[in-house]
Amino acid sequence: MDAFFTSEPAEVSWRSDQIAQIVSESPVACIVTCRSSREGGEYTGDPEAVADLYRRLAEEASPPGWIDIELSSIEREPTQRTWFAEAAQSERPRLVLSFHDFGGRPLDLARRSLALREKADLARAPGIVKIAHRARSIRDSLDLLDLCAAASGPTIALGMGEFGLLSRVLAPKFGGYLTFAALHASMATAPGQPTISELLDQYRFRSISRTTPVYGVLGWPVGHSLSPLLHNAGLASLNRQGVYLPLPVAADPADPEGSFASFKGTLLELIHHPRLCFAGCSVTIPHKEHLARVGAQESARESSHAEVRWSIDELTRKVGAANTLVVERNPDGRVIACRVLNTDGPAAADCLQEVVGDLAGKSVLLVGAGGVAAGIGMELALRGARVWITNRTPARARELCAKLNAGVPGSSRWTAIEDTQGAEEVLNAVINCTPIGMHSGPDPAGLPIVLDALALRNPGLVVMDTVYNPMQTPLLVRARQLRLAVIDGVGMFVRQAAAQFTAWTQSPAPVELFERLVRSELDRRAAPPVGES
Ligand code: NAP
Repeated sequence: MDAFFTSEPAEVSWRSDQIAQIVSESPVACIVTCRSSREGGEYTGDPEAVADLYRRLAEEASPPGWIDIELSSIEREPTQRTWFAEAAQSERPRLVLSFHDFGGRPLDLARRSLALREKADLARAPGIVKIAHRARSIRDSLDLLDLCAAASGPTIALGMGEFGLLSRVLAPKFGGYLTFAALHASMATAPGQPTISELLDQYRFRSISRTTPVYGVLGWPVGHSLSPLLHNAGLASLNRQGVYLPLPVAADPADPEGSFASFKGTLLELIHHPRLCFAGCSVTIPHKEHLARVGAQESARESSHAEVRWSIDELTRKVGAANTLVVERNPDGRVIACRVLNTDGPAAADCLQEVVGDLAGKSVLLVGAGGVAAGIGMELALRGARVWITNRTPARARELCAKLNAGVPGSSRWTAIEDTQGAEEVLNAVINCTPIGMHSGPDPAGLPIVLDALALRNPGLVVMDTVYNPMQTPLLVRARQLRLAVIDGVGMFVRQAAAQFTAWTQSPAPVELFERLVRSELDRRAAPPVGES
């Protein structure tokens, strides 16, 4: 049951019959609250009417299970203070003493929580403390979860906004008294509140216990990531304990070192949190290089005094970007090893290999010279392919080729070219490694390369896109028109996720399930909203 009557808040007294009826007819216990506009709610009427409403509801044959009142209201409003003193003497309804800050995190969070507990402990039936503030980072959410775990009585501590989801989903793991969810997204009573179906179906809320391993995807932004959908469904399909969450870590392009520091601080806090059971994560744009850097720094520290053994795989070491972290713990939960992996490159190479066969001796043109091109370029060459790289900024393609060639002594397997005539050999495949064609990207209708002349020169050319949203990019549409074989970006996305899943669970990933989920979710997102033609 969720909040009622938020639209016409001027007075509650005339609504009290309706509220009493809803409470008495409710099949589940209700929480009643009337939050004033001063406390971030919508009520602007007489505070005395609120005290009268609460008093009246408490006297009903079917009172609400809980009445939630802001501590500051009790302190400020004499009528509510009097009501509180009376209500504290009875067993029902139970009292929730709350503090909300819709703007940010209070400086005195710990002191406020103690003040709330002191007041709540005056109630005959143990009062419940509720703290909800806008979380500015997932570290704020971890602090809220710690408040729950350390509390001496029933406590609700929730983060608002996108950084708060962690605190909402993991509340049971940390002994939180309850969490809130909305019937529909449009009915959320606080920013960042999940829907009931997200909480129960996607995040498997009912299965979360103190020992549940936590996984997630670190990136910025990550709100639309498909990874939670896949990995939670995968864990459920294998009946494995675990929950996978979006873990936003803000980044500022104008402050790369600050962004790295924030990523590293968050990651290390997740890994070493004593109660979280963090078991690993995916890492996406713009933190892939940051993960490789943390891995390199921590594995260098190891030789001296580190307790945790860090390692980075060969591809990460060679290209300086990674998308996967595996955290290994001993049976008593202590972290013993962290492994940094790059599953992007092998995923793309596997997709291509499935269509063109053995990659040894094949010639592949990459368009783009960013992190994805580096991973794919290295993996293709490790499998024996010859790689050409072209890029909007030619100097970046040259730098990448120089870096890749330097990583493999005596090698000249990577060649930067400025136009496609530069690839002297017969090309077997071309792979788009830019965001051109991506929904909401810099050029959704654009083509990263003109295929016509290439198709004439290379009749068997295979065209692959790493962009997967939409599945049918303008590049793949054009390739089909030219009767070329195509590979969309979903295969790579599914394979990189499958390799992560296996690294975390030591079990084969349900690849068909992953692929079905991604394709149907992308179809759903592409469909016009109901009511539009
Ligand atoms: P990145 O490091 O930012 O590199 C982007 C590359 O695209 C650069 O070479 C950049 O050229 C080029 N580029 C960007 N905008 C362009 C434009 N408007 N016109 C021409 N070139 C442009 O990004 P990344 O991490 O390599 O990711 C690239 C793409 O890979 C993503 O957009 C994503 O769609 C895809 N991806 C797919 C998967 C999957 O599983 N299927 C996984 C990860 C990524 P400059 O050097 O000139 O800036």
